[in-house]
Amino acid sequence: MPELPEVEVLVRHLAPLLQNKIVRKVRVRRPRVLAPTSPRRLRKTLQGARFMGLTRRGKYLLFTLRPADSVQPLLLVGHLGMTGRMYLASAEAPLAKHAAVVLNLGRENFVFEDTRYFGRLTLDDKAIGKLGPEPLGAAFTPAYLVRALKHSAQAIKIKLLDQSLVAGIGNIYANEALFRAGISPTLQARTLAPEQAKGLWAAIREVLSEAIECGSTAPLDYSGRRAGDRFFYFGRAPEAPGFYLERLQVYDRAGQPCVNCGHLIERLVQASRSTYFCPRCQAADREHDKEEASHRACFVVCRDVSSCQPPPRAL
Ligand SMILES: [Zn+2]
Repeated sequence: MPELPEVEVLVRHLAPLLQNKIVRKVRVRRPRVLAPTSPRRLRKTLQGARFMGLTRRGKYLLFTLRPADSVQPLLLVGHLGMTGRMYLASAEAPLAKHAAVVLNLGRENFVFEDTRYFGRLTLDDKAIGKLGPEPLGAAFTPAYLVRALKHSAQAIKIKLLDQSLVAGIGNIYANEALFRAGISPTLQARTLAPEQAKGLWAAIREVLSEAIECGSTAPLDYSGRRAGDRFFYFGRAPEAPGFYLERLQVYDRAGQPCVNCGHLIERLVQASRSTYFCPRCQAADREHDKEEASHRACFVVCRDVSSCQPPPRAL
């Protein structure tokens, strides 16, 4: 499922390709992805409109277009849902089976494809107003996160998926950020010490920035024709190097050794979603946390799990 980094990388890829392109024809093959916009309204609004810009908010793509008959710009809101893809393809190429909306731009088509139809391409922008701050933006400060977690009885892993708390984090990066911060995914959000919340703030920004960097520098296949190795949501182009596979440290690594301490990564289910964590690095008990944090610091120095022993437990 695409999260903030994937959407950001897609926006950076698509923005220059769409700039100034004019929508010649609108084809709606799966009307439900437009809801509540009707196919007729989408066709009428977009026909002849020119792409002026593309930005991201949370996991949403915000396309700005200038309509054919007005100087007032219009907003087209995209969301990839669980399986969505947006890409440009030759207008001559046969359409993919699950192409939901196709905007013809002359020699090329802008294709929104979605096998499960949880994605959106709509003129309805209500969802944007409900989003919390951007995790990489200035409004998302350590103090904001400390305050925002203070009154929540939810487990911190579940709370991080709340798009009104912070926009764009999904299951993969919630797992990765908690691991990076050494915080148990089951800990009640309000019980996090301010120092832990600040560590989590930093970890969120790190994991997202690194993923954007990784996706921006690797050759990707946005149409997903060659996807399959789970390297990045869009799939890798044939020339992409293999070492990027090691990008995620806990997600989908149940039963494999923790990169910090060697303990096996475990999986549990929270709110119907898989959580992956290291029970040693992310122990729920705070005293234990401190001890393990010290062990992690040692590991960073010696880089050798076999010779790096946790400090003796205080009696
Ligand atoms: Zn560990």
